[in-house]
Amino acid sequence: MGELWYSSAPTLEPKTAKSVIHPFVVRGYNGLTINPYQGCQHRCAYCYATYEWSPEFYDRIYAKSNADRILEKELAAWKRGEIEPVMVCSATDPYQPAEIRYGLTRKCILVLQKYGVPYYVFTKSSIIDRDLQLHGNYRHNCFIVWSITTCSEKTRRVIEPGTAPASKIFQTIKKFSDVGVCCGVNIDPIIPLITESEIPDIVNCCRQAGVSNVFGSVLRLRTDIWDRMKMAFSALGLDVEEQYRKIYSIKEPLDAKYVSASKDYQEKIASELKSAIQQADMEFGFPKHISTKEIDKSVNGQISLLSYV
Ligand code: SF4
Repeated sequence: MGELWYSSAPTLEPKTAKSVIHPFVVRGYNGLTINPYQGCQHRCAYCYATYEWSPEFYDRIYAKSNADRILEKELAAWKRGEIEPVMVCSATDPYQPAEIRYGLTRKCILVLQKYGVPYYVFTKSSIIDRDLQLHGNYRHNCFIVWSITTCSEKTRRVIEPGTAPASKIFQTIKKFSDVGVCCGVNIDPIIPLITESEIPDIVNCCRQAGVSNVFGSVLRLRTDIWDRMKMAFSALGLDVEEQYRKIYSIKEPLDAKYVSASKDYQEKIASELKSAIQQADMEFGFPKHISTKEIDKSVNGQISLLSYV
């Protein structure tokens, strides 16, 4: 394999956090989020969170060792009315391998449950199996979303080498749906020319695993993401750069802003996804009991722009 976007072994380090619960804005929605870790061992080439963090995002993982205690203080002092559903997490995977050592996500979930806070989890991991009972006991007030990009092991090993195989994730989802937890799958990103043809298969696996809600969106590019994707194309032995330049109307060098695929391409994929979800009798988007808010246009620059997993 040629050049890659990570080194061979990530290091784990504890650090202390001053605050844990933060507002976020992403793709037209806003809400609250917690991130007990900084950096992510899943090492996805397309990760939207890298730019917001450090260049060491994949190689140096920080565990916010006081996250649960700070969260407890923040919730105890909460004076901004009824709390909205909290996203766990927006810029790291809460069930990456570091969670086995530090257990910070579990500790934070216990605090959210203690204060009756609704939450939704975004993960690509099966380590969440450990917390089946924890989430199961709170199933009326939580929503667990797995981000699944591909069922191809060849593709996964290159594009998101730290994640679990999709077959293992679907086994985990089945356990959660069997105990009545509302389960979602976010097919994100749908990667042009590489994973776009997998939509029907992934949706079918979702149905078999008891998933109720499915959604997804097409890969967006940014300078760093485009660089990593080119390394991934090379590692997969794919000659698709020219086709990408057309789909995304790429004019290099890209800048720090996101570049989306053409409207036609996005509409074609969205239509395929919605039709597959409808045929499988599942719901597109979030369930009603954990809804995200559309952006309140009156919010000012206090809100930072984060990406989500
Ligand atoms: S996309 Fe999510 S799971 Fe993958 S590296 Fe980024 S934060 Fe981690």
